[in-house]
Amino acid sequence: MILHIDMDAFFASIEQAINPRLKGKPLIVGSRGNKMRTVVCAASYEAKRLGIGSGMSSKEALRICPSLEFVSAEQGKYIWTSEQIFAMLEGFGFPLNYTSIDEFQMDIGAHPEPLKLAEDLQKQIYANFNITASIGIAKNWLLAKTASKVKKPNGVTLITNANLKEVLSRTPLGKVCGMAGKTGAILSTRGMQTAWDLYLKMPEFFEENPGKFNEEPEKPKSIGHSYTLPRPLENPMVIQAWIRLLSEMVGERLRHRNISTKTIHLWLNGPEIGNFGAQKTFALATSDSFEIYSRSLKIASQVPQKRPKIRALGVTASQLIPQEGLSLFLKQNQREGLIKALDRINSRFGDGSIYPAQVDLTRRVK
Ligand SMILES: [Mg+2]
Repeated sequence: MILHIDMDAFFASIEQAINPRLKGKPLIVGSRGNKMRTVVCAASYEAKRLGIGSGMSSKEALRICPSLEFVSAEQGKYIWTSEQIFAMLEGFGFPLNYTSIDEFQMDIGAHPEPLKLAEDLQKQIYANFNITASIGIAKNWLLAKTASKVKKPNGVTLITNANLKEVLSRTPLGKVCGMAGKTGAILSTRGMQTAWDLYLKMPEFFEENPGKFNEEPEKPKSIGHSYTLPRPLENPMVIQAWIRLLSEMVGERLRHRNISTKTIHLWLNGPEIGNFGAQKTFALATSDSFEIYSRSLKIASQVPQKRPKIRALGVTASQLIPQEGLSLFLKQNQREGLIKALDRINSRFGDGSIYPAQVDLTRRVK
């Protein structure tokens, strides 16, 4: 059985969770800071109910609802939250995949109570992050993903062989993965309006959809994160803040898997430097985010230009080894205690409740 978890209006919900003043209000998240000249990249359910949706111009959205709340997108925050949710879901002990920043798939095998498990997951997500998710459960990933769209927001839908016809008959074709665009439009002119119409013509599309979990999940050979900035930036403080954020994310994943890294690879891309990539192997393995950050900066100092413009950047850890139980170095031990405490607080309160103040600088980039 596959369980597909789809966060509801993810970016907008995060903004509402962080700022209670926005709760229950129609809200759009714009891709740029200028409220009048941007595109809606996420809308809260309150806005969706008024007919506002992503892809719409902010002007149009404001015409529909003049009192609309507006926040400009902060990618770092969404990536961060997504990572935290992934880590929390991993704690349930089932194989887990990312399908996008706000969608996760879990292979729950022959779990005896999939509905109860789904409700538990929803409760945990809400308790930790103050946002809701919709969950679909079915025998393969495509049906599970389709099921997650049936009752949004905060719904759970289980598709079995017994209710397959009933559920697919009331699911518009456009809600099936891959059918939202042209393909769906063409098929609908051929008389296919619902997912069930498509099923009758092409059952293999639903039935033989290869599971994403067929293979044993591999142990990672490297763990990395990269990010493309909205425009080239040269302020070293801001660039360092991004390296710090990416290092935090890499470190958090290493610690969650109880592994450390010896080799750090830093990648920078910009109009003057093109692709700069270099790695360095250190004697002592680490999973400390600050250490990963310091090592990344050492590599960054090899860039010949003084203040190069940076458009995209990435931090990757490789040569991964199991974490040792006790460190020989007292200072290291103290830091590890602190890191563990921070990880616990973050997983309890969600959304990086506590993270380095430096990371805040990444928010200033619009
Ligand atoms: Mg979603």
